[in-house]
Amino acid sequence: MLKNSITTSIFDLFKVGPGPSSSHTIGPMKAAYDFLREINKLPETIISDALSIHIHLYGSLSATGKGHGTDRAIVAGLSGWQPDACDPVKFTAILKDSSEKYPVNVLGNQVFINAENFFFEKGRYDSPHANTMVLRLLNGSEIILEHEYYSIGGGFIYRKGEKPDADETRQPRYSYASMKELKAHLEKEKISLTDFMIANEMALTGASRKEIERKIDTILDFMHKAVKRGLKDKHVLPGTIKLRRKAPLLYQKAKNLALTSDSFLIFLNAYCLAASEENAAGNIVVTAPTSGASGVIPGVTYLIKNHFHYSPQLMREGMLAAAAIGFLVKHNASISGAEMGCMGEIGSASAMAAAMLTYCATKNINAMEASAEIAIEHHLGMTCDPIGGYVQIPCIERNAMGAVKAYNAFLLATAGDSSLQKISLDSVIKVMKATGKDMSKKYKETSEAGLALSATEC
Ligand code: SF4
Repeated sequence: MLKNSITTSIFDLFKVGPGPSSSHTIGPMKAAYDFLREINKLPETIISDALSIHIHLYGSLSATGKGHGTDRAIVAGLSGWQPDACDPVKFTAILKDSSEKYPVNVLGNQVFINAENFFFEKGRYDSPHANTMVLRLLNGSEIILEHEYYSIGGGFIYRKGEKPDADETRQPRYSYASMKELKAHLEKEKISLTDFMIANEMALTGASRKEIERKIDTILDFMHKAVKRGLKDKHVLPGTIKLRRKAPLLYQKAKNLALTSDSFLIFLNAYCLAASEENAAGNIVVTAPTSGASGVIPGVTYLIKNHFHYSPQLMREGMLAAAAIGFLVKHNASISGAEMGCMGEIGSASAMAAAMLTYCATKNINAMEASAEIAIEHHLGMTCDPIGGYVQIPCIERNAMGAVKAYNAFLLATAGDSSLQKISLDSVIKVMKATGKDMSKKYKETSEAGLALSATEC
């Protein structure tokens, strides 16, 4: 295997869980769950009446963690919940009552936590990642166990001392770290992108082709359930902005205009808004590749299923094409808003959706690469500055815009000879990484600049 090969599973990229943010909700829940398991590996001799748990949040987690539900997610994880089995109604009720205490199982004993166990350490620690959390089990003031976790976007986490994606037990069938290497495999082996992606997933996870196809269908089902729920729900979204949902209105408008040229775009907007509004409400969505961007691919797949009537097999192939792009961005730049700004979230989702549309329509790998490149190119430098730290403004409409750009990227890429495209996908991902590095911290999910400063106007 190449030293630096991609070893991410499709189902690590597309994950079911509660909104509103994969890095601030799903990642912290997984970290807290991991910490719970670590606590319960300790010897029984640690049990004492003076045990307590402290949670310290740094960087973007301290800046926007409240609005993103990071504290709720950590309580849920310490209570033994996992994102894909999370009840969204119970989840959103956590910490609503400040007097309520939540039991954490420590070797069969209960240690209680509430809001006072959280420390939002704004700007106090120079950690290796913008989303850092430190969890401690204490006996009085003595630290019994401490782990530092990094939530790197899309719900992926790793502990201090580990490397992200360092699971060396996972060996892909085809090693690759760039689009150039991926295309070289297709050329040499004379296989389709679909077969390439399936062969790697089988090698990485041990799942059969049938199991993988079934899981993709389940992921699509979760995505489309979010769209359907969102098309009906007219409630105001949680949080201080008091933002009213818009998807049902747009959907109605699209149906009224069904015979006009605008209707196709209004339907697409409605579907993307519906899933994004479900995410903002803290309901169950699928990271694609993140929760903040969980409206783009559900909206596009809902459109191609219900308007283009694509077959289940074609939909699966489209999802695999989208995953291939998501892997490359995650591996060579980042899908985290806290590292890349919004180009890491909506930019990646838009590129994945563009690749899906193009691959489904043409099965041409050069055209697919060109469409993903175009989608990223036109998200470069996009800031992340959510108002009040809620994944609502600009996030919800930005999902719809990302989907529309994906569609246009597909049209642009397939209009001429895509093999003549001047900028490669690998190059634009490098530019994305460099741009994210240069971007001021204020524009990377801290809500300290840009649109976030117009909160008073809302
Ligand atoms: S602005 Fe973009 S990156 Fe930031 S929280 Fe919203 S969707 Fe995510």
